[in-house]
Amino acid sequence: MVLLVDTLPRNSRNQGSINLGIEIASKKLDAKIVPWWTKLDCNEYDTIAFNVFYPTQLFNIWPFLYRNNIEPLKSKRSNIRLIAGGQGIGNNGILNEICDEVFLGEIDGDIVDSKGFHRASTIESPYVIKNNKAVVELTRGCKYRCKFCEYSWVHGGKYREKEYDLVMQQMAECKRNGIGNINFLSANFGGYSHVSDVMDFCLKNRIHILNSDLCLKDAYKAIPLLRKTFIKVGVESFDEKTRIDAGKQISDLELDEIIDFSLKYCCGIHFYLIYGLPGDNYDKWYRWLEKLSKKRKDITWRKIRFEFSITNFEPCCGTPFEKMPVVDFQKKHEFLKKWADSLKEFGYRKTPEEIWYHNSRGRFGRKELSYKLLMTLKYGGVELTEKLISTFPNGVNTSINDEQAEKFLLT
Ligand code: SF4
Repeated sequence: MVLLVDTLPRNSRNQGSINLGIEIASKKLDAKIVPWWTKLDCNEYDTIAFNVFYPTQLFNIWPFLYRNNIEPLKSKRSNIRLIAGGQGIGNNGILNEICDEVFLGEIDGDIVDSKGFHRASTIESPYVIKNNKAVVELTRGCKYRCKFCEYSWVHGGKYREKEYDLVMQQMAECKRNGIGNINFLSANFGGYSHVSDVMDFCLKNRIHILNSDLCLKDAYKAIPLLRKTFIKVGVESFDEKTRIDAGKQISDLELDEIIDFSLKYCCGIHFYLIYGLPGDNYDKWYRWLEKLSKKRKDITWRKIRFEFSITNFEPCCGTPFEKMPVVDFQKKHEFLKKWADSLKEFGYRKTPEEIWYHNSRGRFGRKELSYKLLMTLKYGGVELTEKLISTFPNGVNTSINDEQAEKFLLT
């Protein structure tokens, strides 16, 4: 008997939404899914499997073990087998002293690649329905290879698409079940070879497409059919050279054209940006804020919203940028001061207060200590065992505050 423990934080916005990965794991392992704060009779189970989607969720393994009187150290435990899998676990052996098996890759995989990751040679995942919403997987991996992207280089594997006929069949079944909303699982929805057919089907059958994240390269195909929505695009840097050096092959001219094209159909754009990419020129970022503000003012027939989220560059193992320098927070803070002033100057934020992390609506990225903690988890190995099983007996939420980060880093 296997029990599947979801380590998603209690306060995650994704609580209640469909996690296709864990649903697939549950079917494959024939396992019941429980959240990590559950207390139950574990004698019924011979294996406990933990799903770890994000590295900080590693901290939620230990509270489950503690609450259920399960010995955390593999060497001292004999009655129960522990497995962990998910994108939050790297292959540095961080759980080697705790888990009997660390499963890398896709649980429905039928082949194992040279790095030990399980991969499915064809994508045949079922659709999942919950609360009048369905998730239908379209692709795995990404056909682009941005040099900083851990998903593309490590977790996603080779780019694969689900067969068109299977996608159409699954959508038809969703419709028969009265489903009005579908989230198509893909790192790049616009890049799916049959995206136009998928969108036509949804339009004809009044099915609302929940996806709004797009890769700029494929924006033209998807945007006209996603009309009136607010789209989200990964621009990463407003400096053309940095973008292209990082493998995001979009020139300033192309970016400008895509934005103009999007604004014919959509009511706004959320730009995802990465602070700290090698060699970035932030003067270009301020100039783009000015340019976008002019575009917004020129559109008088519709209210246009632009939003900007900055995350910190995370040089990840297995990517071409793994050896690049981590974020220098002194420089980041100098940048953020000017960025915040520019947001006000060009009319994106109206607050009289200084904009900083606490009132940035989560759009300035992690603070220094939380970033250090994350990078420690990403690069760390068995030397972190003791800290993993003792620092947070009550687990963690989605964000880690300075006090918590310090507790982990300094003990
Ligand atoms: S397009 Fe997105 S998912 Fe694909 S490699 Fe680039 S950042 Fe990663």
